[in-house]
Amino acid sequence: MELRRDPITQSWVVLGHHEVLPEPSATCPLCPAQADQLPAILRWPAEGPWQLRVVPHVAPLYRIEGELARRAEGMYDKMGPIGAHEVIIESPQHDSRLARFSDEGIERVLWAYESRIADLKKDPRFKYVAVFKNQGVLAGEEWAHPHSQITATPFVPRRIKYELHASSEWYEEKERCVFCDIVRQEERLGKRIVDVHVAFCPYASRVPFEIWLMWRKHSHRFEQPNPAANMTHLAALLGRTLRRLTQVSGSYHLVLHTAPNTIHPKGELASYWGTLAEDFHWHIEILPVVEQSSKSYSIKEVYYNSVLPEQAAEHLRNLDPNL
Ligand SMILES: [Zn+2]
Ligand SMILES: [Zn+2]
Ligand SMILES: [Zn+2]
Repeated sequence: MELRRDPITQSWVVLGHHEVLPEPSATCPLCPAQADQLPAILRWPAEGPWQLRVVPHVAPLYRIEGELARRAEGMYDKMGPIGAHEVIIESPQHDSRLARFSDEGIERVLWAYESRIADLKKDPRFKYVAVFKNQGVLAGEEWAHPHSQITATPFVPRRIKYELHASSEWYEEKERCVFCDIVRQEERLGKRIVDVHVAFCPYASRVPFEIWLMWRKHSHRFEQPNPAANMTHLAALLGRTLRRLTQVSGSYHLVLHTAPNTIHPKGELASYWGTLAEDFHWHIEILPVVEQSSKSYSIKEVYYNSVLPEQAAEHLRNLDPNL
């Protein structure tokens, strides 16, 4: 297995990965009887039966051990698949769903995101820590058991790179955070707001009912500062949003976008991260799978969305977030 970089798009591609998953069986690998056999990277509570458990992925895309060995192959770049790939088992209950969790249960999941990001960022080989969740068969979930995944990679994924470039350019020009600007404008207009604390359908929504969750208060890192104080509110907001969303679609992709790892092996901050703390703003993007449209994000990498975000937001606003 190796990572190769496309010199045109600058995307890194994992090549030669063969799933070594065991034969599909009736037993779920994330249910306590099976998951207890896997090492616990994190668990809650510390003793007794667990409510949440973080385990290594059984068929990881990236591995902790080994050399990064970034090297050239003629004009091309490649490196070893160094990184981490973990699974957050959100509950011991196979049939529960994050949208159905109590606010405390959701907060526990957010706490696990926060702790794992902070811990993985201590490793200077990892440039980015991604947290994502695929809910439902249409979203390509790996197991039906409630879970999220975490990957730490020796490169910054392309979508994040785009966001980082765009936000640093915006800042260079206006000395303002583009995300703060978005929140302020959306709050002023109101028509794309789903929840005032703040969830909204983005102006150029890629899929029907796309929702972003963002704090009004600026912060580039999800994992700090003072996460404990904010997580309770975020858990309640995420719960309301997911309960609205599940009335529209049972399948969605959720991804957390936080600042990349700026720890450099030599200890200094690379110049291109100069304004990162001011220009980037962590957020959660949720992309529901509503229409099984083969048109969306295909080879052309252009999105076709049949639902205007203003209509989507109005529809979602009118749904009961407690249902
Ligand atoms: Zn299970
Ligand atoms: Zn901001
Ligand atoms: Zn984003």
